[in-house]
Amino acid sequence: VELARLVDGLLRTVPDFPEPGIQFRDIMPLLADADAFARVVQALADHVHGPVDLVAGMEARGFLLAAPVAAALRAGVVPVRKAGKLPGPVASQSFALEYGVAAVEVQPGTIPDGARVLVVDDVLATGGTAAATVGLLEACGATVVGLSFLVELEGLGGRALLPGRSVDSLLTLG
Ligand code: 5GP
Repeated sequence: VELARLVDGLLRTVPDFPEPGIQFRDIMPLLADADAFARVVQALADHVHGPVDLVAGMEARGFLLAAPVAAALRAGVVPVRKAGKLPGPVASQSFALEYGVAAVEVQPGTIPDGARVLVVDDVLATGGTAAATVGLLEACGATVVGLSFLVELEGLGGRALLPGRSVDSLLTLG
């Protein structure tokens, strides 16, 4: 089966989660499928153009993809965490949510100057999380070489917040 169709078939769409009006794409059935998980990790690793020193994954589902992709690439892994979870020193980047603000954090001591970093997450929605992550990593001296997502929710326009970036997704949904 073609990978995009395999992924599509293993996503579960949950209405009104975590809030009324949100159609949540649940990736857990995909992660639980041994063959699909292996193929997804391999495809994310194969999409990379050029050398990668570190793979950055966003809390929490991004961790589950970034770590095996990093191991496949023989790269290190950098967890991008929500505010207050990492022991310092940390670098922080805040970004706007529909209601309020959030922040992402990394430990800059784990990112060598000029490190080539691939950003991996499960879902690209509005792009706020990904754009903040790129800004954070580059403020720490990294070079973001690309972003790879399992699913891109095209209608939410996340790509527009990542101009000039190499953005790949295994499955695009309206
Ligand atoms: P954004 O900042 O692009 O609006 O949202 C992306 C972040 O929220 C990602 O870290 C992603 O894990 C999470 N997210 C947003 N919508 C969904 C969804 O429908 N399904 C899943 N699995 N995650 C989502």
